[in-house]
Amino acid sequence: MASTRTQIGIVGAGPAGLLLSHLLAREGIESILVEDRSRTYVEERIRAGVLEQGTVDILNQTGLGERMNRESLIHDGIEIRFNGTGHRIDFPSLTGGKRIAVYGQHEVVKDLIAARLADGGVIHFEVSDVSVNDFTDTAPKIRYRKAGEGNEIACDFIAGCDGFHGICRPSIPEGILTAYDREYPFAWLGILAESTPAAEELIYTHTDRGFALLSMRSPTLSRLYLQCNPEDDIARWPDDRIWEELQRRTATADGAFRVPEGPILQKGITPMRSFVVEPMQHGRLYLAGDAAHIVPPTGAKGMNLAVADVRTLTTALVAFYKNGDVTRLGEYSARCLRRVWKAQRFSWWMTTMLHLNRADSPFDRRRQIAELDYVTSSETAMRSLAENYVGLPFDDPVAVN
Ligand SMILES: Cc1cc2nc3c(=O)[nH]c(=O)nc-3n(C[C@H](O)[C@H](O)[C@H](O)COP(=O)(O)OP(=O)(O)OC[C@H]3O[C@@H](n4cnc5c(N)ncnc54)[C@H](O)[C@@H]3O)c2cc1C
Repeated sequence: MASTRTQIGIVGAGPAGLLLSHLLAREGIESILVEDRSRTYVEERIRAGVLEQGTVDILNQTGLGERMNRESLIHDGIEIRFNGTGHRIDFPSLTGGKRIAVYGQHEVVKDLIAARLADGGVIHFEVSDVSVNDFTDTAPKIRYRKAGEGNEIACDFIAGCDGFHGICRPSIPEGILTAYDREYPFAWLGILAESTPAAEELIYTHTDRGFALLSMRSPTLSRLYLQCNPEDDIARWPDDRIWEELQRRTATADGAFRVPEGPILQKGITPMRSFVVEPMQHGRLYLAGDAAHIVPPTGAKGMNLAVADVRTLTTALVAFYKNGDVTRLGEYSARCLRRVWKAQRFSWWMTTMLHLNRADSPFDRRRQIAELDYVTSSETAMRSLAENYVGLPFDDPVAVN
């Protein structure tokens, strides 16, 4: 078995793993990434697309902003539409000038991979049989196979950034982690379409037919979602049915609004779930991003939380390597979870406020409309939504260089 050594072994080259490797390299800390998919696959995997102000800031501060600043769409607000009428929530005026950027997660991944490889970073793509070993003593190891050959990475710490279906979290012995889980009785049918975005900003709609979200990835690519049943089969959603349903769920009372249609490039159904494990660390294995928690996408928090986790982990690892200080490593899980749970609350709240739950009583439906009315008419309520949407401030005073 070929053996190499590094300081941090990272499993998973999604946003969490790649950004961690990038931030560590800037601090002079070595890492090696292993990823079971190909580079092309991870660079083309369409997922999240809303970057909080803090995510934009960290990418800019660490030299990753060039293409993002050129190609991203900066949004100053969102629209919430119900009863056929739209209500805009203006972020800068409610949050002291904060905004969001629309820039696909796969574009962030492309920028990160390019930066890591340009800096001499090591990413092993298309590996198999990955395992994490000996992380409860001081010499953890990642083992994997590449082109049929066995390999081992000896390291000081392992970062489990391998997403919800990865192997790191299940490698922690039973009884250590507590999982908090909620499944929702709906899913999102998402499409990527070659069509002009319906509006300059995202539109969230609540109707008696269910929820819809009109988003975008560029001036010529729309990302559009429909609430559907988790058991729905995508084969039952031909393109015509998708467009018809989008038109019905986004119609305005005056009948003037139309979603621009175009060829559908990708479509898929994603179930909605809230999930957190506590703690996010065991021994020298630290979980980050979707490996530790997932949120329903309504609050646009998934990738932003992954970024926040690795920011916290970087700060802790820098304190360890520069000053021999283990305090922040010990605090890693608690620090991350404070933010994670607030993002869980916000994502759950946006989801339950906007989706049609067929089990709801007529009382619940009226309460839901009252909540939408309140959140779009009270400045205090709008400020709370805006503050969470653009990303809560970090309570961590240490900035990443
Ligand atoms: C289908 C889907 C759609 C989504 N859509 C949205 C959205 O519209 N809006 C939103 O805000 N959020 C969305 N999210 C959430 C968001 O994309 C995630 O929160 C984000 O990807 C988290 O980043 P991560 O790096 O933690 O995990 P991931 O991006 O999942 O990265 C984990 C990486 O680990 C790799 N990996 C897995 N197992 C192994 C292994 N055994 N060995 C080596 N590598 C491994 C994976 O291939 C992957 O590259 C979506 C998520 C999914 C799954």
